[in-house]
Amino acid sequence: MTQRVFPVPNVLKSTTRVDLQTYQNLYRRSLEEPESFWREQARILDWVKPFTTVKKTHYSPDNVTIEWFADGALNACFNCLDRHARERGDDVAILWEADTPGETRRVTWSDLQQEVSRLANALERLGVNKGDFVSVYLPVVPEAIAAMLACARIGAVHSVVFSGFSSEALAGRIEDCRSRVLITADEGMRAGKHVPLKKNADAALQNLPFVEHVLVVRRTGRDVPMTPGRDRWYDEALAEVSAECPPVEVGAEDPLFVLYTSGSTGKPKGMLHTTGGYLVHAATSFRAMFDYRPGDIHFCTADVGWVTAHTYLIYGPLANGATIVLFEGVPTWPDASRWWQIIETYRVNIFYTAPTAIRSLMREGEAPVRKHDLSSLRVMGSVGEPINPEAWLWYHEIVGGGRCPIIDTYWQTETGAVLLCPLPGATDLKPGSAAKPFFGVRPALLNSDGAPVDGEGSGNLCFGDSWPGQARTILGDRERFLKTYFTTFPGYYFTGDGARRDADGYYWITGRLDDVINVSGHRLGTVEVETALASHASVAEAAVVGMPHEIKGQGIFAFVTLKDGVIESDELRRELVQIVRTRIGPIATPDRIEWAPQLPKNRSGKILRRILTRIAAGDFENHGDTSTVADPAVVAEIVRRVQVSA
Ligand code: ATP
Ligand code: MG
Repeated sequence: MTQRVFPVPNVLKSTTRVDLQTYQNLYRRSLEEPESFWREQARILDWVKPFTTVKKTHYSPDNVTIEWFADGALNACFNCLDRHARERGDDVAILWEADTPGETRRVTWSDLQQEVSRLANALERLGVNKGDFVSVYLPVVPEAIAAMLACARIGAVHSVVFSGFSSEALAGRIEDCRSRVLITADEGMRAGKHVPLKKNADAALQNLPFVEHVLVVRRTGRDVPMTPGRDRWYDEALAEVSAECPPVEVGAEDPLFVLYTSGSTGKPKGMLHTTGGYLVHAATSFRAMFDYRPGDIHFCTADVGWVTAHTYLIYGPLANGATIVLFEGVPTWPDASRWWQIIETYRVNIFYTAPTAIRSLMREGEAPVRKHDLSSLRVMGSVGEPINPEAWLWYHEIVGGGRCPIIDTYWQTETGAVLLCPLPGATDLKPGSAAKPFFGVRPALLNSDGAPVDGEGSGNLCFGDSWPGQARTILGDRERFLKTYFTTFPGYYFTGDGARRDADGYYWITGRLDDVINVSGHRLGTVEVETALASHASVAEAAVVGMPHEIKGQGIFAFVTLKDGVIESDELRRELVQIVRTRIGPIATPDRIEWAPQLPKNRSGKILRRILTRIAAGDFENHGDTSTVADPAVVAEIVRRVQVSA
């Protein structure tokens, strides 16, 4: 496929704050004079106490230090709420759309301010102090945002746990941060089904006697058991306290939240984020990467349990005073037009989602999209995985009508906010590439000896200096933090991902380094092979892993999901082998192709290649840490098929 380039649309060029020239100048300045650059950027926030030093950061092996704006003080909740409530309290902050079509709520800035203040007072009554951890196990409802902001208001540290997680996963995450207070709901709603949150929470708390209080939001109103002395209804606790609660002064380096990585490669890590740097990075990058303009309606589809929601559904947008759409449900229920209908209803301008969702909606065809007027969209984003060009083009043409730039944002729970992305008014787009570094970000590709690869080439994706949103540690495990990110390549932050830099300086993520396959001494990224497979018209999605091979060391095992209605055949297998040979070369020829009705994914939709690797090696029992697998039945079905055809 010849590489297509999508130039910046003319209308954006003339209206944007950041055009190509501005990006290049600012980027250069951000590297040459980081202190003055970030000092200026930090004005996006209101500070209680101005900082004097901007950055104190070292990555040397014997001294890893990450501090930003360290002697300044601020309150994240004030920045995301009070300053907007003061100016325009009656404007809408949250447009909530429930799982059930037709059920909606509009929350104004002053509504939210009152609710957050009451909850903050209620938490203080329960003995929550500055620095204490509070766990949150809620569906995507306005109360989840209130819970996060209420913690921030009093300097407590929130730990949001995805409401799709089991009681064991919840228990592990509560135990890890030892929170004494949990905020949950009677139930959640997902695709018309009731999710027993309180029941899961009760099971999780069975062996966690240190949890003293549980606040329960009434979401569905169904009867749930309440443990006297421990459990209280959220609304009753809020009714008893005042709606005024002044935000406390919080040091820039005081923690704001802990959040666990999604566990694609192993046991989730509790990443600890602090207040000042995180919020500066979240707010400035939200504004730049989506070309945010006052009055825009922003719709990010991430669940509140993921970092994407923390930074680009909640903190980044709210710090900018953006109106957000908060959607509780799933894109395919009651039918595959749900998101498109929401975009039409609320006249959404900025839309941010993940490739896995785009691919699943692509399988449903164009009709559900075409039914709706999506002309309000201006910018669309992608996050979580490399987006294969077929999905990119569909998103761009069918959803965005060919008008909207696709902002492919590369970042991690650890990075807090974006590191690589195009900017709408500045960067020509190449489908599948996360383009260029964000301000202040120094990417480096290192070969296995740790030497930097200059110009065109591939290597281990690392970053040569800190950025404000960076996680400061793994909660309770500084050793693991240093070992995971700073030891492999001394002097650099190591992402664990591989990347390629093309002749124009664009970055292409080639996959997780844990997943690199070594075929007869050639290192192949999984993404490349998967992209080739997915370019076949019959393929919906593919996952590629290594398998033991007597001669080659490792062979290539491909798990392929076909589009609806396509019939599995050996003929199709041969075509797929051919397409990989043509696009990459004979070295990448799959040794085995197995049809998979679905691929095993974690709850945020990422393919769990580590499980497929074990299956490909003939190990059908031990899948490692499976607490993050979304649907165990998918794994069982793949095991069955592989065993039958072995
Ligand atoms: P764990 O670290 O526990 O294995 P995880 O890496 O899946 O879990 P996240 O922090 O949610 O947890 O995901 C970050 C990873 O997602 C990145 O390291 C990268 O592999 C992938 N990723 C995110 N955005 C992009 C993108 N735009 N393009 C390519 N890959 C991306
Ligand atoms: Mg990771």
